[in-house]
Amino acid sequence: MTMYADIAFPISSYQVFTYRIPYKMRNSVKIGVRVKAPFHKRSVNGVVVGVSDTTDYKRRVRSIDSLVDNELVLDKYLWSLLEWVSDYYLTPLGQVAQTALPAKLSLQYKLPSRIVVSFRKAPDVALTNAPVQERVLRYLQQNKGPVTLSVLKDITLNPSSVCKALLNKGLITWDEQDLLPDVSGLTFSPIHKKVKFTKEQKLVLEELRQGLESKKFIPFLLHGVTSSGKTEIYIDIVRQTLESGRSVILLLPEIALTPQITGRFRAVFGDTVALWHSKLTHATRAWTWKKICAGEFRIVIGARSAIFTPLKNLGLVVVDEEQEHSYKQDSINPRYHARDVALMRGKIHKIPVLLASATPSLESYYNHIQSKFKYLYLAKRYGGAKYPQVSIVDMDQETEESGKTGQILSGFLLDKIEERLQKKEQVILMQNRRGFSPIIRCDDCGVLDMCPDCNVPMAYHRTGPALKCHFCGHCIDKLSANCGSCNSTNIRLVGTGTQKIETIIGETFPNASIVRVDMDTSRNVTALTSAISSFGSGDVDILLGTQMISKGLDFENATLVGIINADTGLFLPDFRSGERLFQLIYQTAGRAGRRKKPGEVVIQTYNYDNPVIKYASRLDLKKYYNIILNERNDLNYPPFSWMAKLELSGRNKNNLQIVAQKIRDNLKNPYTGLEILGPVDCYYERLRNRFRMQIVLKSYKTADSNGRKLHNYIKKNFPDGNYLINSGVKIIIDINPVSLL
Ligand code: ADP
Ligand code: ZN
Ligand code: ZN
Repeated sequence: MTMYADIAFPISSYQVFTYRIPYKMRNSVKIGVRVKAPFHKRSVNGVVVGVSDTTDYKRRVRSIDSLVDNELVLDKYLWSLLEWVSDYYLTPLGQVAQTALPAKLSLQYKLPSRIVVSFRKAPDVALTNAPVQERVLRYLQQNKGPVTLSVLKDITLNPSSVCKALLNKGLITWDEQDLLPDVSGLTFSPIHKKVKFTKEQKLVLEELRQGLESKKFIPFLLHGVTSSGKTEIYIDIVRQTLESGRSVILLLPEIALTPQITGRFRAVFGDTVALWHSKLTHATRAWTWKKICAGEFRIVIGARSAIFTPLKNLGLVVVDEEQEHSYKQDSINPRYHARDVALMRGKIHKIPVLLASATPSLESYYNHIQSKFKYLYLAKRYGGAKYPQVSIVDMDQETEESGKTGQILSGFLLDKIEERLQKKEQVILMQNRRGFSPIIRCDDCGVLDMCPDCNVPMAYHRTGPALKCHFCGHCIDKLSANCGSCNSTNIRLVGTGTQKIETIIGETFPNASIVRVDMDTSRNVTALTSAISSFGSGDVDILLGTQMISKGLDFENATLVGIINADTGLFLPDFRSGERLFQLIYQTAGRAGRRKKPGEVVIQTYNYDNPVIKYASRLDLKKYYNIILNERNDLNYPPFSWMAKLELSGRNKNNLQIVAQKIRDNLKNPYTGLEILGPVDCYYERLRNRFRMQIVLKSYKTADSNGRKLHNYIKKNFPDGNYLINSGVKIIIDINPVSLL
């Protein structure tokens, strides 16, 4: 009997394609198996979504080419998870499978290898007729250990054939050696630590232990102030999970956090810890993945895509800094949120999921208030460490008093830095803008240097290309001396990025050493790791960076934190901008004074009275959260509604407007409790040479408690799914968007 398989490819259509299963693959081709099959004249990776012994397809049915893996990777749990992601985020399964299991990962992956040779024995008869062989052999004999062929290039141009001759004579050994990826530069060296849990920590651990034992899905929200020992709690509960024979995924929001936390985990769990993020080399990723599938790693620490790793026997998922927006994949489909996928994975596996933060997302905080999450609270910093003392510097007043406009570092902050440097303590400075100056402005006509494709100001950089667009990466090598619009030479760099701060600090404190961490300095993870670890080991006095350094890091001797411009992002027209800024300030402040030495925080702002700045500087989370919860309630924003965003983009603005209006008009029969806003231009009106508009749908929880109504409404209105092209206009449906910019 002929058997057929339906295959979903990574395309933006829900259509699946039927192929014949070759006889020899009969027992291997099942739902969830990845195969290669002919598609548009190429052999393309797809995933099997159905198997049957009949087909309605009338034309010639082609055959599957090959299997991608030699055994099933997507077990029934992971398969249900992908089905859920596909349904929830309105993305065809083929695309979801591609995100969860990129084509380049395969069980059949082989590490690159190299040939090594070593001395075996001396010849019975001297090699006088073969002087080169003689020299190579002598070299190997002196060298003792194995040697790669390329090392022998100094002796002979053709080491391979010389060595083969020696091998044939039985004088050397010849081995193929796997080139194991070197991951040592990606983590801090493990330091063992004695941990004795406090009463408060023990209570939390006890709840988690019971959760583990229950073998049920339990969503926990661990809300612990900065430095309360959350990471130690993870380590202990992970230990218990491993002891019960199960494995763990720990999600981190930021690559900058991985080296230190992985180091802390390796100190306890050694080589069973795998690191997983997008900056790994292909060989490291492919090799790590294969070992995860083989069960050789039992803890995966990684960025959002780690939530899909096919760990066997999963027992616990931890989502650290659960409020972070980087958990949302918002550039490609599926536009999933790793925290929500983590919760669903927990539900499917019937295991606890631990969300944790010092500043929970408002959504999670509200879920706790609604008793949907089990709430665990750590109120105290570990070891009697005090909360840092926070001072706000009113930069308006500073300007008035100093008579100097455009002061970047206040006298107050400079004095504090000086004081700490003298005491040989360390300083962290946060400026949430990279580059030198974010804006270049002509003083005569006021025109800014804009990215031609994105219509946002290009940022000036001191190193590399002079001008960079932070959206699309468009670069201009040299800064022109004249205004592109009026030709004036009155061009000024406006605003401050980390590079400028670095210059100022370097000039003001010539004897202090400083390390900068931002996206420009950390394209290479090894460099990032060594930058952060040089601060951790005390070799560097000042750590300067963007939000990358604001959370999760633990430095003993850092006692002063300076937030150079607390206002960055304060006025972005997004209902979450206040929440985000509050979290950023609160978290950054939390880097100070994490041990015995008292810490201090200086916040510079031009918006002294703004509630975000005010409550963040008082570290009064409850107060601020209550204020914004009320605001969100009044305006029916999440967490009081479910939200979906239709993002429309096109190269022709007129056409985009017409299509957007048509789409809006076609959104018929909204139910009570569904609010439809727009179409309006997005805040970033043009990116990557496409104009952008959005329509936002809000479905009030009072009418739609679990979001099902909104979901069905969207499915009914957009049966073709997430992504379609309509006379040059693209539609992206973003469920629970994290940004409305
Ligand atoms: P958080 O993750 O909540 O910011 P950490 O887990 O980094 O806090 O804890 C802050 C510091 O205190 C770390 O250096 C940690 O090792 C230490 N610490 C926390 N709890 C304990 C404990 N029970 N015993 C020993 N050290 C602890
Ligand atoms: Zn651009
Ligand atoms: Zn000009």
